[in-house]
Amino acid sequence: MEKHNVIIVGSGPAGYTAAIYAARANMKPVMYMGLEPGGQLMQTTDVENYPGYPEGIMGPQMMNDFKAQAERFGTEIRYGMITKVDFSKRPFTLTIDEDKQVQAESVILATGASAKWLGLESEKRLNGRGVSACAVCDGFFYKNTEVAIVGAGDTAAEEALYLSKLCTKVHMFVRRDEMRASKIMQNRVLKTANIEVYWNTETDEVLGKDEVEGVRIVNNKTGEKTEIPVKGFFVAIGHKPNSDVFKDYLEMDDVGYVKTKADSTQTNIEGVFACGDLQDSVFRQAVTAAGTGCMAALEAERFLAEKEII
Ligand code: NDP
Repeated sequence: MEKHNVIIVGSGPAGYTAAIYAARANMKPVMYMGLEPGGQLMQTTDVENYPGYPEGIMGPQMMNDFKAQAERFGTEIRYGMITKVDFSKRPFTLTIDEDKQVQAESVILATGASAKWLGLESEKRLNGRGVSACAVCDGFFYKNTEVAIVGAGDTAAEEALYLSKLCTKVHMFVRRDEMRASKIMQNRVLKTANIEVYWNTETDEVLGKDEVEGVRIVNNKTGEKTEIPVKGFFVAIGHKPNSDVFKDYLEMDDVGYVKTKADSTQTNIEGVFACGDLQDSVFRQAVTAAGTGCMAALEAERFLAEKEII
């Protein structure tokens, strides 16, 4: 069976950064790109908060640049999805597309997380045209306009507060008569003059042909429907880390985020490292993912050197 020093799983900012570092350290990394090559940034338009791009850059272009940089130093990038792993002994075995098996002395997992969506056709159609799952990424584009946000957890509260500083008004839709967010965050939201909370409220439809022009909401107690004109529609109803395939081996929190040691990307299995959104439920930024990708490659290099593999 084919055997490699390090296999990187996932091709977002974390995976590519790990690849750049691993390739430059002569570890001859092999990357499997996964189901969504390029990750969540492939669905974004302008990225303005990644240092080094003073004019901003389109998400897909940025990921192409990451890929080119990883390839320049010799990363072997392959299509394929990891459908099964055996982390019970080294070398680890990974099954690709339920078919081929490869082995690796170390593994860097960077499979990311996926934003949860409401599941409306209009939400999908207008994604990237006013519909977003990341206020920190896209809020700036709606400066001085009215926006809406769905959700009632800490993320929704934090994002509503973030948007309230940029936008003239934030309409916040909460499906129950209470919020799940921590009390302190709820209080901040409720005390902010330009955030209006709509209780027992669900989204019926996002309105607009080519870009978001408004939202139709429905009160789930009375059935009353209301249309509100907004330019931005933010969905903040949680994320799901792409960790199912590792669940038999890796320690995870209740939601499925992979646990790593403090100040490290080391998982509970020596030689298996996790980076990016797969292990970060808090920051979830391209730049923080890239940072942990770098950490994972450096830790994998140290691990392989200690085992006298490289
Ligand atoms: P959560 O799972 O905590 O909250 C999701 C929210 O979305 C809930 O209020 C839920 O409503 C709502 N929701 C889910 N599905 C729908 C739907 N279809 N329609 C309308 N609303 C829906 O996710 P978060 O991302 O907010 O937080 C994840 C974790 O990260 C939490 O543990 C949180 O505390 C933590 N976190 C911490 C932060 C910090 O400490 N600064 C910042 C951000 C997150 P309902 O309540 O009715 O189920």
